[in-house]
Amino acid sequence: MGSSGWETDYIVPGGLEVRLTLFWGDNYFGAIHKDCIATMRKMLAEHGMKLSLIPANGEMTDQFAVKVPVKEDGLLHPDGYNELRNRCAAKFDDQAVEPHKQRLPVIFCNFKYTANGLTVDAGPWLPWCMVGPTSDSVTMLHETGHASGLGHLTTSSQAGAKQNFMFDGGGDRSLMHKAQLQKFAQAYFIK
Ligand SMILES: [Zn+2]
Repeated sequence: MGSSGWETDYIVPGGLEVRLTLFWGDNYFGAIHKDCIATMRKMLAEHGMKLSLIPANGEMTDQFAVKVPVKEDGLLHPDGYNELRNRCAAKFDDQAVEPHKQRLPVIFCNFKYTANGLTVDAGPWLPWCMVGPTSDSVTMLHETGHASGLGHLTTSSQAGAKQNFMFDGGGDRSLMHKAQLQKFAQAYFIK
């Protein structure tokens, strides 16, 4: 495979920060966000990047709790996406605080969809992510990959049963390939 972009030990130069703002919807339950944060921090560190969170350490505070505009089933539907995003913007505006660098909003909430995570890249906002309560620990990192413009990469890796973080499915998605990382690092929320 040589230097074709499939290397799994690539270090992104520059000590970049992956900058997220976390929000918690009132129909979210459980605590998968803690595993998502821990896994993302670990995997980024393996490739020379840091996870920068607001609120600090990913501890939920009232400022980052949002009411989710749900339907009768208690779930967020697509016609509520923009309202939810607006409510988050009203809670925290990354352009109103130093150093005015953009952040990717990640909203932990329960939404009607076929997968546990979803990145919304249509509408008036830059891409933003939702992570559901029954996600696994890689879901948040996977969705931030989509928010950077990465699509699914379904190929198996050469290393045992491990899969890359953009594999469309569960299991061990612990690998980040060089070509993926180079695109990821260009995202609006990575500086
Ligand atoms: Zn996906």
